[in-house]
Amino acid sequence: MQIILRGPAAGYEAEHTARLFFPDAEKAENLPQDSDFVLAQSHLCTDTILLRLHGRLYWKIALRPQGADPEYTLCSLLYTLLGEVTGSTPPWGMMTGVRPVRIIHDMRASGATEDEIRARFLDHFACTPEKFALALGIADLQKPVLDAADPMDCSVYAGIPFCPTRCSYCSFVSRTVGDKATRALVQPYVDKLCAELTAIRETADRCGLHIRTFYIGGGTPTSLSAAQLEQLMSHIAKTFDLAKLDEYTVEAGRPDCTDAEKLRIIKKYGATRISINPQTFSDQVLQNIGRRHTAQDIIDCFAAARAAGHKNINMDLIAGLPGDTVEGFEASLRQAIALDPENITVHTLTLKRASNIVVEHRAADYADVAAMLGKCSLLADAGYRPYYMYRQKGTLQNLENIGWAKPGFECLYNIYIMEEVHTILSAGAGGSTKLVIPGQRRGKIERIFNFKYPTEYIDRFAELLDRKKAVEDFYARYTSQTLCQS
Ligand code: SF4
Repeated sequence: MQIILRGPAAGYEAEHTARLFFPDAEKAENLPQDSDFVLAQSHLCTDTILLRLHGRLYWKIALRPQGADPEYTLCSLLYTLLGEVTGSTPPWGMMTGVRPVRIIHDMRASGATEDEIRARFLDHFACTPEKFALALGIADLQKPVLDAADPMDCSVYAGIPFCPTRCSYCSFVSRTVGDKATRALVQPYVDKLCAELTAIRETADRCGLHIRTFYIGGGTPTSLSAAQLEQLMSHIAKTFDLAKLDEYTVEAGRPDCTDAEKLRIIKKYGATRISINPQTFSDQVLQNIGRRHTAQDIIDCFAAARAAGHKNINMDLIAGLPGDTVEGFEASLRQAIALDPENITVHTLTLKRASNIVVEHRAADYADVAAMLGKCSLLADAGYRPYYMYRQKGTLQNLENIGWAKPGFECLYNIYIMEEVHTILSAGAGGSTKLVIPGQRRGKIERIFNFKYPTEYIDRFAELLDRKKAVEDFYARYTSQTLCQS
């Protein structure tokens, strides 16, 4: 399938509307002679859609009502035709953006009534009532967290771009510590990361920022040796005032490198939340994605975490992994619930070009993935509530990723980063510092990127610290502006 876009209103939205039905379609300039295509064309006052599917032609032409948004009318016509011909009804309708919950927050902030919000989801975007109810419930749960946000709050992220082995679906810039060259990088990387975190603390102090949450993610942080993990976490404990944090998460990640000793270190140095991520409890599916551990290893790791005193544990599962089935996913979900973690995050597989399973090894059928997510009602039955959600380009069926939590265990960092409530100061290779203008949550976000690869990060560290001076410039600019305005 090829997508051809013509006319001023035929852009990103039209392309992504077409991809709701044909996710693997390629963009093209000209109508192909002998393959399937969809053409979306906006004219001065009409919209045209032409579709060739399995050799048959379908089309729709519509006069645009006066004053109507041409991008919307084109996408709507496209969505209608593709829905009629394929018989498919995407659960989020025409909504292609990544953050449906934000629409609710923004509409509420601008004074919209609940009926107007409902109409936006159900009529304008053709979203199903179930998905609207999901988004609304999450928005309601997040509201007190967002209302309590202070303009000078921030969070800190430290990234460990190493993993024990590479999962087949992964597109993240992570290096496997199995090879000797990478192993040699880890110690200098940890040294530099500690130095960058010291600089971040000093910057935060000079800018008058309050650090609310701390997050060590990856990659897999526990791919560090116990001594390196202790070096990093003791440095953080010395450098930051952990007593003032609302939350401190460490992604323990995978059981093939997380042992009782590392779990004790994580606890000893003050983490309040960890993540142990099975992705699936099927040994066969674990093998399919390149994991060299069993489901029993995950269960044992979870028990070791509890024994080490961890009282707030998240487990990630992924719907749509290669070789998984609806029944298999349900069994994983039931197993996760049986372990009784405080958070369960259900991701939908995202197929990105950098992963090893792009199209050839298509994971579960698209239809199955929606059925898998349907099984998440088991989480609600077990007392978990959805508290954050996002969608990604390339996610199967344009479906969502949802964090579920028992009441009181919602991960603040996840809400902050998803809703872009406050600045995130990122340390480590691949880190992206996001600067949110104080008091202007929907203002333009400025970004400072760290070097992507560990070698660059280590070798060009001085240059990186120099680049980060922009954080202070940013706050000098905006806090004086904010003060002048008030
Ligand atoms: S553990 Fe995560 S970051 Fe590491 S290879 Fe697997 S998916 Fe990628």
